[in-house]
Amino acid sequence: MCDVCLKDKEHWTDECPYLVRIPNPMEVTLGKGYELVCAHCNVKGGHSDIVGTQCNWWGGNPNRRWEGRAIIKVCGICEGVLHWSAECPNKDSLPKPKSLLECAAEYRSWLATKKCQAA
Ligand SMILES: [Zn+2]
Ligand SMILES: [Zn+2]
Ligand SMILES: [Zn+2]
Repeated sequence: MCDVCLKDKEHWTDECPYLVRIPNPMEVTLGKGYELVCAHCNVKGGHSDIVGTQCNWWGGNPNRRWEGRAIIKVCGICEGVLHWSAECPNKDSLPKPKSLLECAAEYRSWLATKKCQAA
């Protein structure tokens, strides 16, 4: 099965025509590892089919329909693919950078240990 367009027995995921062009983007469902973007201006989710909300790339010509394209989701957190950073399953298991408050608390407890030491 193709992971992009979810069609069975037509082509491999790598050969999916949706990765290049989707002529009827509002009528297709993409696999969850892929995101629909406008093929012309790359805006995520594309445009709506309502006349007047077409892609600016067309110069506002209401007779031109926008076309989409499927892009693979890439994660900035685990550097994996098929999900965005916001959807990362590893998001919570990675160490978070310390907040200023946490640093201040650590500094205060470090100072306290200094005070307790015998002079
Ligand atoms: Zn496909
Ligand atoms: Zn566009
Ligand atoms: Zn990730």
